[in-house]
Amino acid sequence: MSPGFSTRAIHGAGPGTEPRRALQFPIYAGVAHDFESAEAMGATFSGRKAAFAYSRIANPTVDAFEKKMALLEDGLGSVAVSSGMAAISTTLLTLLAAGDNIVSSSSLFGGTFSLFRNVLSPLGIETRFVPIDDPDAIEAAIDGQTRAIFLETISNPRTVVPDFAEVSRIARAHRLVLIADSTATTPYLFSAKRHGADIALHSTTKYISGGATSMGGAIVDLGTFDWSAVPALEGYHRFREMAFIARLRKEVYRDTGSCMSPYDAYLQSLGLETLALRMERVCENARAIAEFLAGEDAVRSVDYPGLPSSPYHDLANRQFDGRYGGVLAFSLPDKASCFRFLNRLRLMRRSSNLGDNKSLALHSSTTIYVEFTAEEQKAMGVDDTIIRLSVGIEDPDDIIADLRQALAGI
Ligand SMILES: *Cc1c(COP(=O)(O)O)cnc(C)c1O
Repeated sequence: MSPGFSTRAIHGAGPGTEPRRALQFPIYAGVAHDFESAEAMGATFSGRKAAFAYSRIANPTVDAFEKKMALLEDGLGSVAVSSGMAAISTTLLTLLAAGDNIVSSSSLFGGTFSLFRNVLSPLGIETRFVPIDDPDAIEAAIDGQTRAIFLETISNPRTVVPDFAEVSRIARAHRLVLIADSTATTPYLFSAKRHGADIALHSTTKYISGGATSMGGAIVDLGTFDWSAVPALEGYHRFREMAFIARLRKEVYRDTGSCMSPYDAYLQSLGLETLALRMERVCENARAIAEFLAGEDAVRSVDYPGLPSSPYHDLANRQFDGRYGGVLAFSLPDKASCFRFLNRLRLMRRSSNLGDNKSLALHSSTTIYVEFTAEEQKAMGVDDTIIRLSVGIEDPDDIIADLRQALAGI
């Protein structure tokens, strides 16, 4: 029997990985390591022998975190980076070259949309945005230069859940890499590999960090894609199944300097140990809050896949084993009532993060999505009546009492 999720998250691949038998893998904070000989140094730099040389390229504390992430996703290998955005940008810069395009869900985190439109597009990498629940639109957007499909497991803020069976079937048929941003679900709620993704990405800043302790990102190659189909990896085909990780490590990650700090890797590893416990509580709290909000007169609508009324309820049940994450959105009559609601909160904090142990609230259209036109916001499911909550692990009655008193004054 293979060990369960928390056992793997706590023990990793087992004892014996840390030379002094420290139970917490230590923080190797320095920049560089020395070599026993010039020959050994040459062997490492030419790629013949793995060793730690320089922390921008590899670091033992970061490596320990990467190994746990690969284990939890049942992946082939993992690279930890400085943030969730670094996970997305370095992945795409590894897989794509000018002239290539990707098809992406239009329901996206604002930073991701901005990366695609403002950073990748001037480099000649085009993104074709589609409603991810429309297979015909996905098919119609694909052409000979399409290399990947990008989506979020539960989109932020309107909690759109893609049908992985359907999207991965399309990706397979066209030999496209299916990249899943699993930040909202974490490896605890969602097995990206079992549901047909090829690469799982995480902003580990969110749930994995252990409650907003540190920034981080993780890229996991799930070992399912035949990399010989990707022109940008041409020089790396000799690495076979490791071609993606090889180019990522040897070029994009190293040369863009997107490394994770060893201090942060330490916190992220600690966070992983309690991920399952926290996610259980987060999901339980979020469901109770969604149900409460759905019964309030002032609330026009609630988006949460855990509500039977959600169009994504069945898909979420199938893909996330009866848990629905900690993010929900609800709508109030107008922007002014949203602001009054936010300003009356006493326990919940007004903050743009998610995945904190504290419950957080924000007005999406004037914060994360403020740079986008009303039309672009609409395509991402945002308008000025939407409040997003990131539910924490406080006692649920206290969160609900705070929501109740805030709603009473709008
Ligand atoms: C926060 C977030 C990101 C970006 O992560 P950072 O760690 O802030 O760079 C990407 N995708 C999703 C779904 C997110 O919620």
